[in-house]
Amino acid sequence: VFRNKLTFFAAAKISSSLPPAELPEIAFAGRSNVGKSSLLNALTRQWGVVRTSDKPGLTQTLNFFKLGPKLCLVDLPGYGFAYAKEEVKEAWEELAKEYVSTRVGLRRVCLLIDTKWGMNPRDHELVDLMERSKTKYQIVLTKTDTVFPIDVARRAMQIEESLKAKKSAVQPLMMVSSKTGAGIRSLRTALATVARF
Ligand code: GDP
Repeated sequence: VFRNKLTFFAAAKISSSLPPAELPEIAFAGRSNVGKSSLLNALTRQWGVVRTSDKPGLTQTLNFFKLGPKLCLVDLPGYGFAYAKEEVKEAWEELAKEYVSTRVGLRRVCLLIDTKWGMNPRDHELVDLMERSKTKYQIVLTKTDTVFPIDVARRAMQIEESLKAKKSAVQPLMMVSSKTGAGIRSLRTALATVARF
């Protein structure tokens, strides 16, 4: 499915502008600078074609991309900009939360976590929300090339430990580096399975 052509088809700032949920969707979430754009680029190899302005704090919309006729990828706005205006921040965060907890057809949320920094309170907040709404999600450790392999393993263990108590909706953790390509194929395979309902 990741060989299919990627086409941008909708952006939403408010819930009334969400496109109809016609296809299975896989969403990508994480704090700003976590490596989301790079990962989407590595997964699809065509992100640059459709990616418009992605400057932190400027385009805070949920962006919908069709990947061929059968799957939709959703780019959730990155959270945690110190300088995003408070009221702006709230509007899209509320929409992102609503989307994640109620969207019909949402098969999986990939919650991206920087291997070096681990989870922050905002990430845990999102996890709690997905657990409450029984939204299937998986942690994707990013930028694994930036630390020693032993530290990647340590981080993975630490996160799995911290999610152990709540793992009703959590799926196996994956580790990737968009820079070296490590783990990208495995993630593609895992997500392709999700798409084949
Ligand atoms: P976004 O804000 O989450 O979309 O993050 P970007 O994809 O724009 O990446 C943020 C920064 O991290 C950029 O400087 C990227 O070059 C860098 N980056 C992203 N992925 C990787 C990776 O796998 N390894 C390394 N070393 N750097 C990465």
